[in-house]
Amino acid sequence: MDKTTRRTFISQAAGVGSALGAAPWILNGGAEQATRQDSIVKSKYAQLDKILGQPLLKRALFKSPVIIETLELLKYENSYLCRVRSSDGAEGISVAHYDMALFHPIFNRKLRRFFLGKDARDLDLILERILFYGLNFRLEGMALGIPLATIEFAILDMLGHISGKSVGHLVGEIHHPEVPVYVATEFRHLALEEHFDKIQEAVAQYDTNALKIKVGYMHYGTTDIHYPGLPGKSEKLVPMVRAHYGDDMFLYADSNGYYDVEGAIKMGQLLEEYEYSYFEEPVRFDRFEDIKVVADALAIPIANGEQDHSFTNFRWLLAQDGIDIVQPDNYYFGGMIRSIKVARMAEAMGKTFIPHMSGGGLGFIYNSHIVSVCPNAGKHHEFKGFRTHVPFECPTAPLKISNGKMKVPAGPGFGVQIDPDFVKKHTVVGP
Ligand SMILES: [Mg+2]
Repeated sequence: MDKTTRRTFISQAAGVGSALGAAPWILNGGAEQATRQDSIVKSKYAQLDKILGQPLLKRALFKSPVIIETLELLKYENSYLCRVRSSDGAEGISVAHYDMALFHPIFNRKLRRFFLGKDARDLDLILERILFYGLNFRLEGMALGIPLATIEFAILDMLGHISGKSVGHLVGEIHHPEVPVYVATEFRHLALEEHFDKIQEAVAQYDTNALKIKVGYMHYGTTDIHYPGLPGKSEKLVPMVRAHYGDDMFLYADSNGYYDVEGAIKMGQLLEEYEYSYFEEPVRFDRFEDIKVVADALAIPIANGEQDHSFTNFRWLLAQDGIDIVQPDNYYFGGMIRSIKVARMAEAMGKTFIPHMSGGGLGFIYNSHIVSVCPNAGKHHEFKGFRTHVPFECPTAPLKISNGKMKVPAGPGFGVQIDPDFVKKHTVVGP
């Protein structure tokens, strides 16, 4: 159901509700309609669960078992890498999110042992089972997601080198060899003029025509945090940015869950007036009933999901038609396979995938690969610059933004070669 139809349906339903007292036959009609709606939702859940149960890794690419013999976390200063080796001597390597500094005991004590001796061809199953091994689901969030994603990236890199294929080809087809990007900006703590200047500085660095701005103050429940001059700032910034860049700029807005339902609807209407293309985290990320209320009330597409760590919110919001754009984070959500499953669920419901991107390391490379395999990837994707502490080479892509797009590396694995001398500086982190 598209947004216009959904709103029509809601207004019809509201009409039925207001007439309930006067005409019992309408009550029966309302009940029938509710039953019909229930069965639609039920069949959507069945469709989504089927997608969740379908493995992504193309097992047929590997004729014989790929037994994981060693799985190591390596550290040098603030840098963490993950290295996996098979019993046949194949190797894969990944760069961890910088918050691995907080979570390395989980890598070593809660996850590592489960992978050892397993056949990497069973990766989908391993990723499902590991949640229940040692009650790991209790750690869900960045604590589980970051170490799990780091391990998964290394395994996919190894499988890519064994098969000579890029990670995208291991788990799907390449739909987008180039990823169009938007410039992600922050600066919400600054006063209006300074905020506006910083946005312009950021946009001027890249050859792109898409930009995301922050609206609202901070996160949900922080109305007590007032910066001087900020109340009412977003209401001025939204039209200012549109007036400055004109109609050719794609604009997006993110409130990081700042608003309550009423405030979000008001801000959403303003964004609609100035033709912003989506509204991200309009209300608190885990109040999914509220997200749906906001989505139903507005025509602007609603995006959510960067804080999610389980499939539960996505499943509910997609089945209930309460979200338009799903945004799992490749690291926080536990890797490519899990994130692509969210994208596939969204695709089945006619919705869009625009993953959140954690900054640092090789996050922008890993993200480009998940976007490349999803046919329902959005028009532009998060981009926070090429700055990284990792020296590497990428023979198949220049890694620059030209004409608003970044080419996705095409070589085996993630298509990058991390400088071996840099890897050698790292030592194994013990449990
Ligand atoms: Mg966001």
